[in-house]
Amino acid sequence: MKTEVNSNDLMSVCKRRGFIWPSFELYGGVAGMYDYGPTGFSLRNNIVEVWRDIYKGREGFVEIDSETVNPREVFKASGHVDNFEDLITYCTKCQAPFRADHLVKPFYENADVLSASDLEKAFIEHGVVCPECGGKLGPVEEFNLMFKTTIGPGSARIGYLRPETAQGIFVNFLNLYRYNREKLPMGVIQTGRGYRNEIAPRQGMIRMREFNMMEVELFVDPEDKDWVRFKDIENDILTLVPNTGDETVTMSVKEAVDKKIIANRVLAYFVNTTRQLLTRLGINPEKLRFRQHLKDEMAHYAADCWDAEVLLSYGWTEITGIADRGCWDLSRHAEFSGTELTHFKKFDEPKEMEVTKIIAKHKALGPKFKGKAKDISAAMESKTPGDIKNGNLTVNIDGEDIILTDEFFEIATVNEKVSGERVVPHVIEPSHGLDRIFYSILEHAYVFDEEKGYAVLRLKPEVAPIKVGVFPLMEKDGLDVLAKQIYEKVHTPRIEAYYDGAGTIGKRYARMDEIGTPWCITVDYEAFEGKDAGTVTIRDRDSSQQKRIPIDSVPSVIDSLLTGKPFSDL
Ligand code: AMP
Repeated sequence: MKTEVNSNDLMSVCKRRGFIWPSFELYGGVAGMYDYGPTGFSLRNNIVEVWRDIYKGREGFVEIDSETVNPREVFKASGHVDNFEDLITYCTKCQAPFRADHLVKPFYENADVLSASDLEKAFIEHGVVCPECGGKLGPVEEFNLMFKTTIGPGSARIGYLRPETAQGIFVNFLNLYRYNREKLPMGVIQTGRGYRNEIAPRQGMIRMREFNMMEVELFVDPEDKDWVRFKDIENDILTLVPNTGDETVTMSVKEAVDKKIIANRVLAYFVNTTRQLLTRLGINPEKLRFRQHLKDEMAHYAADCWDAEVLLSYGWTEITGIADRGCWDLSRHAEFSGTELTHFKKFDEPKEMEVTKIIAKHKALGPKFKGKAKDISAAMESKTPGDIKNGNLTVNIDGEDIILTDEFFEIATVNEKVSGERVVPHVIEPSHGLDRIFYSILEHAYVFDEEKGYAVLRLKPEVAPIKVGVFPLMEKDGLDVLAKQIYEKVHTPRIEAYYDGAGTIGKRYARMDEIGTPWCITVDYEAFEGKDAGTVTIRDRDSSQQKRIPIDSVPSVIDSLLTGKPFSDL
């Protein structure tokens, strides 16, 4: 049994068995783009279902689906228009483009933090030339990774394909907040495509230009970074690589927080949730670690950030990022949209406080607005000084916007009993790369059975695309009729079954093993006569063990195996 994986061998199983196909192969292919075949799509959907089960089922988060094409304003606010760049260099001879940091990776531990001028110096110092033709490399420039487009014809609005799904959640904050009855914490999840025009897509599904994400945005009170279920998991063990050194340490979630290695309890809880998710999906816990971003790797606004990394044939690879993003996202969208994106935090008891507020000037409003003056002054006094734009305050009365200059209001600081205050929620974000998780699961499930002479995917039954293969020993003598009846019974929207009557039984088992199907049912002649009449065999993928079970019990046996009953207990 060989467990080390060569990514080419795995990709060839993936292609042959309908998991993944390079896109547009008919036209020569496009780097960094892949299509999911039938088994791959089922596996991917099963991964999403487990993610959903944890976040929507256990944690009670809500799920949305937002647009993939967004107007420029969204990414101007998020910082992607100005900062979402990689450094590029072109060969001066053959014009081939390269990600500049990749060219100097052998010489630096963290080449991706080098500046453009550092990289140009590094080319000279280490004699780096074009890997394609040996030509001299040109200057290092910034290259924005977003795909640009236009929304509508003519003098259209500039748009971008989203590089992450998260912004769709942030721009819907007010809708979601109202939907959530204006309460925190509020958890929102979204799965869908992200697009990044990677300079050098490589390592198969690790760096794609169009990829799938499962993102989670949790809005919390900045002063309450705890989680209700923290106690349930505080003794779970995490493998961590803190940014204070290169050493890997293992410790309980509680210890990581107590020693201030992970910034707060809610972030630690979701680092652990990521561990639970990934191991449930089939990531080998011994090949999983959480690496804290180095200080210069962390976004300036992030309070703390950890990557879930898995050991693959490519080396340690990030598959999920978990960050405490502070108030950055909502503050930026509030600033750029001119709309307050806050939470009203009620005090336990009303407090006497100094408040700066808008006071309506009734004497000026009355003569000008007559009957409407009372409604206008009430609307004005419900606003805050932050709502004043260019010296004017806008209120909406019966659908009509009324713009008021400062002759109608003043700003005053008064002592008042107040019942609460407005705060900008902080965001905790576990962002999962679905394709990278998909690929990692396959690598960790792959074993080459030297005795049998073929690869077996030891996928967890919960994610396996096909749960059960159903075969007649031969397609005759009524064996096929009975096998088809059994297939009809077990194949449901939840349990995908596969009927196969062609070829030798050994080849059919091999096909199912390569797809990762955990169990196969075979109908043989004993089903009709002798002491085993009324039974069929069930075979276990991982042990190749076979047992006989009553025909009528097949669906319930599959059900019990799927809910965790060991095969040896049948
Ligand atoms: P990021 O927003 O860069 O932290 O990305 C979040 C997650 O998306 C990462 O942890 C990766 O798993 C995944 N990801 C990012 N870029 C790509 C890509 N080009 N291809 C595939 N997955 C990606």
